[in-house]
Amino acid sequence: MTAIRMDGRALAAKLRAEVADDVRAFGEPVCLATILVGDDPASHVYVGKKHEASHEAGIESRDHRLPGDTSESDVLDLVAQLNADEEVDGILVQLPLPDHMDEPMVLRAVDPAKDVDGFHPLNAGRLFLGEPLHVPATPLGIMALLAEYDVELEGRRAVVIGRSEIVGKPVAMLLLAKHATVTICHSRTRDLAEHTRAADVLVAAAGRPGLVTPDMVKSGAAVVDVGVNRTKSGLVGDVDPAVAEVAGLLSPVPGGVGPMTIAMLLRNTLSAARYRRLGVALPGS
Ligand code: NAP
Repeated sequence: MTAIRMDGRALAAKLRAEVADDVRAFGEPVCLATILVGDDPASHVYVGKKHEASHEAGIESRDHRLPGDTSESDVLDLVAQLNADEEVDGILVQLPLPDHMDEPMVLRAVDPAKDVDGFHPLNAGRLFLGEPLHVPATPLGIMALLAEYDVELEGRRAVVIGRSEIVGKPVAMLLLAKHATVTICHSRTRDLAEHTRAADVLVAAAGRPGLVTPDMVKSGAAVVDVGVNRTKSGLVGDVDPAVAEVAGLLSPVPGGVGPMTIAMLLRNTLSAARYRRLGVALPGS
C-alpha cells in the first residue's frame, strides 16, 4: 500500500483564503499581537511567518520583539497593556521564553478571551470540559486534516504519542470529543509499538526523528506526523517515511501539520475578535 499524502499546504491555503473572506465580511479591523523574547532563530522565523500570514488574511498585526535579558515584569507589563488595548483581539506569546522567566505565569497573565494559542488554564479547562473557546492551533490543524480526508473517528482507536499541553493532551481531548477511543503514550509507555499497532488513527508528537517505523503501524491507518526535528539531513518528522508503505494516509513533514497550525491561528484570531465584540465564537475554535 502507498499512503495517500495528507496535503496540509493545500488545505491551509484554502482555509487561509476562507479566513480572509471572513475577515472582510467581519468589516472591522482584526488585530493579532505577538511577543517574542530573545534571539532563538527558529522562533524569529515562526513569528515572521505568523505576521506574513496575518497580513495576507487582512489581519493587522503588532510585532513585539524584546531582547533576551528583558525582565519578567517588563513582559508582564506588556501583556497587561495588550490585554487592556481595545484594538488587540489576539495575544500570542512565542515559546520558549528565556530560562529566567516563569513561562506558565506569563501565559496565565494573558486575557483568556485574547488567548489565541489556547494555552491559558481557563481555555485548557474549557476544552477538558467539552466547552472549548480557544483551542491550541496545532491540534485544531490535525483535526482539520483528518476531517478533510474523511477519516472516521467515532468508535475508532486513536493513539497519540506525546502528552504536552501544546499538542498531545489537547489533540487527545479533541479526538475524544469526536468519540474515538483514545490512548495517550509518552516516554514512560512500555512497549509503544503494542499500542501504536492497534491504532486506526496515529498522531505522533514526540519530537523524536523517525520514532514511528513501519512495523509499528497498522495497515491502512491514518498517520499524522506532528514532529519537527532539525537533523543533519534537514527537517524530518517523528514518522519514518517508509511508513507510507503501510499506512492508508500520511501527513508529510514538511507540508503537513506545520502549515495547518498557522491557518488555525488566523482562524482563532478572527474567532477571538468575534467572541470579544459580538459574544460569539467560530464553531470548533
Ligand atoms: P514536548 O513538549 O517535548 O513533548 C514531547 C512528548 O513526547 C512528551 O510527552 C514526551 O513524553 C513524549 N516522548 C518523547 N520521547 C518519546 C518516546 N521515545 N516515546 C514516546 N513518547 C515520547 O514536545 P511538543 O511541544 O508536544 O512537540 C512535539 C513535536 O511536535 C516536536 O517535534 C515539535 O517541534 C513538533 N511541533 C510541531 C508543530 C507544528 O506546527 N508542526 C507545533 C508544535 C510542535 P514525557 O511527557 O514522558 O516526557
